[in-house]
Amino acid sequence: MIVLVVNCGSSSLKYQLVNMDNEEVMAKGLVEKITLPDARLTHKWNGRKKEIVQPIPDHKVAVKLVLDLLTDPEAGVIKSMKEIDAVGHRVVHGGEEFASSTLITDEVMKALERCSAFAPLHNPPNIIGIKACRAIMPEVPQVGVFDTSFHQTMPPEAYMYGLPYELYKEDGIRRYGFHGTSHRYVADRIAEVMGVKKEDLRIISCHLGNGSSLAAIKGGRSIDTTMGFTPLAGMLMGTRCGDIDPAIVCTVMDKHNLSAQEMDTLMNKKSGVLGISGVSSDFRDLGEAAAAGNERARLALDMFHYQVRKLIGALAAAMGGVDVITFTAGVGENGIEDRVAICEGLEYMGAELDAERNNVRGKDALISTDDSACKVYVIPTNEEIMIARDTKDIVSR
Ligand code: ADP
Repeated sequence: MIVLVVNCGSSSLKYQLVNMDNEEVMAKGLVEKITLPDARLTHKWNGRKKEIVQPIPDHKVAVKLVLDLLTDPEAGVIKSMKEIDAVGHRVVHGGEEFASSTLITDEVMKALERCSAFAPLHNPPNIIGIKACRAIMPEVPQVGVFDTSFHQTMPPEAYMYGLPYELYKEDGIRRYGFHGTSHRYVADRIAEVMGVKKEDLRIISCHLGNGSSLAAIKGGRSIDTTMGFTPLAGMLMGTRCGDIDPAIVCTVMDKHNLSAQEMDTLMNKKSGVLGISGVSSDFRDLGEAAAAGNERARLALDMFHYQVRKLIGALAAAMGGVDVITFTAGVGENGIEDRVAICEGLEYMGAELDAERNNVRGKDALISTDDSACKVYVIPTNEEIMIARDTKDIVSR
């Protein structure tokens, strides 16, 4: 079975064509700057790469272009579009409507539109991508895989906020959590790597990238997570502020005469390690600046490490202990010094890094000492393969 995995952003489209007989990635690529005259498509196959720069007015044209390339006599890996058995779409927000991945029907499309209210920046482009694929490949089944659905197993005491109950009932204000596809992949993979059943594990999964979240996964189910109603909550991130005293919002809006939109931009785009350092949202840049003596870059990194460590403690408490801590995504997989700084002081919960083992990037690896009661691992995430697996499962039913 061949599955096309599609991840649409507001001006981008990422894709992977996966042969599900052996989970081999046949081709993958990225379309950027959709709607602009100098849109760019980067297509990779068989160790080769092709770039196309041309105007791409909308996502439908982008999908068409990708399909043309996948079936191109030179750059293609299939003979015709008919070889694609199913398409799996990443969808950011499934609200309470989707506790698992789902076959997309007209009914589901309506539910997706309803969920857009929760993720006005992310869901609409996901929906545009689905519509484009349905229009171009009407015979091919399409599946939606949600960032939120893995966390639908959280108990109410974990997902409710201390606000009037009506806000939950009428407006759906609650913790949803994100990065669910990544946390779910890691939970499956760590059980495989450790050779144990995931039902027997208490995992703290640390997805640390531009956006970061932790999940407490007990017996294979998410029981709590650090992101909330939106992906703004938790530790400070590249440009997002993370958890702050909610009263700060009204105070700053009043004092600086900001609209809700402006305040939202301040917290999502101008805060985090960028806002603190004034240097960059990129952890590599921050590491370099801190090493060169930039104190605000140092502070931003210290805050990030401290907040991750503190949240690990909170999630360990939520599970009554922890058997394994996993690191994934850009910083989690590559940030050797970040992992050291985060784990410093976690010895009380039995987690102790091994300096030599921790000297590793981007591959499955045990990085704790043999004596460490709580194991620590690097597990590179793979959201695309999770989307492809779900898609295969659903269309094979
Ligand atoms: P996204 O959330 O956009 O998917 P990624 O998971 O790709 O983000 O993570 C991006 C972050 O990973 C950037 O801040 C980048 O600096 C960081 N990163 C990548 N390589 C390294 C490295 N070698 N050391 C520290 N951080 C790294």
